[in-house]
Amino acid sequence: MRSPNDWVSLLETVPDPEIPVLNVVEMGIVRSVECPGNSIIIKITPTYMGCPAMDAIADDIQAKLGPIAMEESKTLRVELVYSPAWTTDWLDDAAKAKLEKYGIAPPVKTSDKRALQGEPSEIHCPHCKSKDTRLVSLFGSTACKAHYQCNSCSEPFDYFKCI
Ligand SMILES: [Zn+2]
Repeated sequence: MRSPNDWVSLLETVPDPEIPVLNVVEMGIVRSVECPGNSIIIKITPTYMGCPAMDAIADDIQAKLGPIAMEESKTLRVELVYSPAWTTDWLDDAAKAKLEKYGIAPPVKTSDKRALQGEPSEIHCPHCKSKDTRLVSLFGSTACKAHYQCNSCSEPFDYFKCI
């Protein structure tokens, strides 16, 4: 019989639908795993409000872990917890490093607001590390990201916005 920690390990095999290099645990989405009686309750906090990926995450968890729960004759339920709200602070340094390797500039708390207003920022290019970057569009490939371009290497990249 699996313990809550075992279920957390299994959750680490579920990638974030928008950022497949990070799993849902690394994203800081998973709030708790409880195993009362014959059920397994996984509580997750949506990242960006209204982000269409959120339903996908709950479905992905259900699809991947539901059958495993069934092997133990248990039912798995994914519940959404909205408070406290998810923040990019919940991404740890390892997760941010993975983001950057994947080509997405990780959130920079201090300069985020300025950056999104198109002002100079600390957001550096994930390709060549240059800080000479500019905002192209507030919305990148998804609403969670802003679209940037590097003035040094000319590569476009996504910036993961802070919330
Ligand atoms: Zn660059």
